Amino acid sequence: MNYFSLNHNAPEVRFKEAVVRGLAPDKGLYFPKTIQQLPDSFFHNIENLNQVDIAYEAIKQFVGDEIPEEDLKTILKDVLSFDFPLVEIDKNIASLELYHGPTLAFKDVGARFMARCLGYFNSKDKNTNKVTVLVATSGDTGGAVANGFLGVKGVDVVILYPSGKVSDIQEKQLTTLGQNITALEVNGVFDDCQAMVKTAFLDEGLKTSRTLTSANSINIARWLPQMFYYFFAFKALKDKSKKLVFSVPSGNYGNICAGMMAQKLGLPIHHFVTGTNANNVVPEYLKTGNYLTKASVATISNAMDVGAPSNFIRIEELHHHDFELLKQNLSGYGFTDSETIDAINHLKKQHNYIADPHGAIGYLALKNHLKHNSDSYGIFLETAHPIKFFPVMPKQIADQMEIPPQIKSILHKEKKSIKISNYEELRHFLLKSFN
Ligand SMILES: *Cc1c(COP(=O)(O)O)cnc(C)c1O
Repeated sequence: MNYFSLNHNAPEVRFKEAVVRGLAPDKGLYFPKTIQQLPDSFFHNIENLNQVDIAYEAIKQFVGDEIPEEDLKTILKDVLSFDFPLVEIDKNIASLELYHGPTLAFKDVGARFMARCLGYFNSKDKNTNKVTVLVATSGDTGGAVANGFLGVKGVDVVILYPSGKVSDIQEKQLTTLGQNITALEVNGVFDDCQAMVKTAFLDEGLKTSRTLTSANSINIARWLPQMFYYFFAFKALKDKSKKLVFSVPSGNYGNICAGMMAQKLGLPIHHFVTGTNANNVVPEYLKTGNYLTKASVATISNAMDVGAPSNFIRIEELHHHDFELLKQNLSGYGFTDSETIDAINHLKKQHNYIADPHGAIGYLALKNHLKHNSDSYGIFLETAHPIKFFPVMPKQIADQMEIPPQIKSILHKEKKSIKISNYEELRHFLLKSFN
C-alpha cells in the first residue's frame, strides 16, 4: 500500500515511512493510494469475529507487508485490551463508549497503535533512527500519547501543555509517568504550544541524529485505527436493518474521517453527523459553502477547541472534493456551552446516563438529525470519561461520579514537569536531549 501527499508535491511512501514521518516533506497529509472494499462475507459474519480479527481485516491493507500478519495481530491484541460498549440510551439512540482505555479517552487506541508500530520498526531495524515524538496537547491527546508510548524502546516523547489550562486529572496523566516521557509546561495557551511544535518541525537545525515526528491524528497510525470503533458498533447492533447514522463530536476531524474510511471499506453507514461547540467551521461550511478557518475559542468541551481542523482535507478527498456529495453524507451542528450543560442534565434526568461535554454534543447533534430522519438508528460517540471533565460538569452530577481505577492509581503520584516560555527554550531542551 502506498501513500501520497495531499499537497501532491512529495514522493509516495509506504506505511512505515508515512508513520515515521508523520507529515509528508511538502507538509501535506498522507492519504492511501487505493482503498479496497471488504467482502460481503466479512460483514455477514462479523458477529462471529472478535475485536482483534475485525481490526486486522480493517487495517491489513493499509499496513501492507511491512508488518507480517502474526506480528500485526499481536500488536492489535495488545492495543485492544479493553471494551467498547454500545449502550442503548433511548429508542433508536445509543452511546458508543470509547473511554474504557488506560487514559479514559478514545485517543488511547490510536496512540497505542502508533506507539507499537514505531516500537516494532525500531526492534526490527537497528539502523532506524531514534524517534522523538513531539506533541502539543490541550489535555486529552497528551495523556493518551504519554501512556501509549511509555516504555517503548527507541522512542522518546516530549509533551507540551499549557500551564494551568488542563484539568488536575489530565495534568497528572501527563506528568507522573517518567521513563521516556517528558512533560514541558508552557507558560501560555494551547495555541502557543501548537505554534512551538510547528516551529520545531520546520527547524532544519533539529533534523540531525533524530527523527522528529508528531503523534497527532495527522499521523496515519493514529488516524486509521479509529476505524475499528465503527465496526465494533456495527457488530454490537442488534437490529442491523435500520439506516445507521453516526454522530461524532469533532475537533480535528480525525475520528469522523476514520468512520468515513470504514464506510469506504463497505460498512453500511447511511450518514454522518458532526457535533461541535462554538468552533463550528465545518457546520458553517456545510451551511454556506464557505470554508472559513478562525482562531479557536475556549469552551467546556475543550478537546474540540480547534479553529482549523487538520483532517478536513482528508474528508474532502474521500468525497472527491465534491461539495454536494459531501452534504449528502455529512450534516453538522454547533452548540453553546449552556446547551451542552442542558444536554448533560437532560441525559441524566431522562435516561440516567452521565455523558461528558463532548459526548453530550454528539447526542445533541444526533437528536437534531433524527428530528427529520426518524427511520434511522443513531449512535453518538462518547469520546471521554466524564470524570476527566469534573470541573465543568454540573456539580450535582459530578458528585455522583465514581473515580475509576485508572485515575485512582495516579492521583497520589508526584508531578514532574519542566517549565518553558518560548521556542528557544524548547529548542535548547530538544538539542540537549538528543545527545
Ligand atoms: C480529541 C477529542 C475529540 C475530537 O476528535 P477529533 O478526531 O480531533 O475530531 C472529541 N472528544 C474528545 C474527548 C477528544 O479528546
